[in-house]
Amino acid sequence: MAVFNTLENVEDLYEIGEVLGSGHFAQVREVRERATGVLWAGKFLKIRKCASSRMGIERKSVEKEVEVLQSLQHTNIMALKDVFESRAEVVLVLELISGGELFDFIAEKENLTESEAIEFMKQILLGVGFMHGKQIGHFDLKPENIMLSDKNAPNPRIKIIDFGLAHRFQPGEEYKCMSGTPQYIPPEVINYEPLSTAVDMWSLGVITYILLSGTSPFQGCTDDETLSNIIALNYEFDDLHFSKTSSMAKDFIQKLFVKDVNERMTAEEGLFHPWIKPLTRKQVDNRNRASINMKNFKKFNAKRKWKMSYNMVWMCNRLRRLKVICKTSAPADEELRQCESDQEDNDIKPASLIRRRLSSSSLS
Ligand code: AMP
Repeated sequence: MAVFNTLENVEDLYEIGEVLGSGHFAQVREVRERATGVLWAGKFLKIRKCASSRMGIERKSVEKEVEVLQSLQHTNIMALKDVFESRAEVVLVLELISGGELFDFIAEKENLTESEAIEFMKQILLGVGFMHGKQIGHFDLKPENIMLSDKNAPNPRIKIIDFGLAHRFQPGEEYKCMSGTPQYIPPEVINYEPLSTAVDMWSLGVITYILLSGTSPFQGCTDDETLSNIIALNYEFDDLHFSKTSSMAKDFIQKLFVKDVNERMTAEEGLFHPWIKPLTRKQVDNRNRASINMKNFKKFNAKRKWKMSYNMVWMCNRLRRLKVICKTSAPADEELRQCESDQEDNDIKPASLIRRRLSSSSLS
């Protein structure tokens, strides 16, 4: 990584503000740069103390996320400004994205034509295409990671966030990884086959399907059922949910739900698909007439938000339980004691962080 360390203190440079969101062992807070008054988002990541510990993230993974973000300067991708680190924690200072999630923005609307939805899809394709051009796969594209910079702007700008699972491919590299969110992963992830940037294109297919219909294409009653549906390519465009959808939109999705990764549509091809870039007057009219199934979409989004809050409560309870176990275990149990000290380290102490200044290619 092109960085060098100084002993500057994060709190000398930034005032730490309210919590914006949380992820696994990460908390995102608003931070104000003292010198300029500019607001940023600080992502505070807990670093795992040793390989056997379950608390925190491996430092290597955070460094991977930083390296990926450093090379992604694009208007539709969240930018990285600065990095601070200590033994127990890393803080990423990121572009503040204040418009919330795209799906929440859409769910507030009464109507949305396909043409309007396509303006967002185009931006997502541009961001993803840029990433893929740099041989980087995001590997966790889902509605939660597609945000808007300012929802009150006349043309809100898409920002892709959370590069915690992203990977940059080296020439000839065979990369396998079984991670991601069940609803959004393609067959090659489930089958533990070599991956490529095509993983993201399948996830975009799922996002588009949900956006148009308010239903998730492969969702089963259990994760196992969902995964079986994905492997069997078991989805349909049922009339109940797709009565207002154009045939071009369905074709766009079909070209993404392709098992053969070499045949799956790329981001670059997607930008030239007639649903995104119509060539005839008739295609333009079809997009203007077709619309999102808003009633269903609102229902889907409300359920999604409920599930996210439920998962957050579950995660907090689990962390709390781990803390209780650690406190009551025999001192001889090294793993549990480790757990307790890790948990103590989990309390954010930004004052002890050391700054890692980024190379000149990053934001200033
Ligand atoms: P992450 O762990 O990166 O997925 O972030 C967890 C949550 O924090 C996200 O779901 C967002 O709600 C919020 N968040 C992450 N990055 C930003 C940002 N740059 N600006 C505003 N909110 C953010």
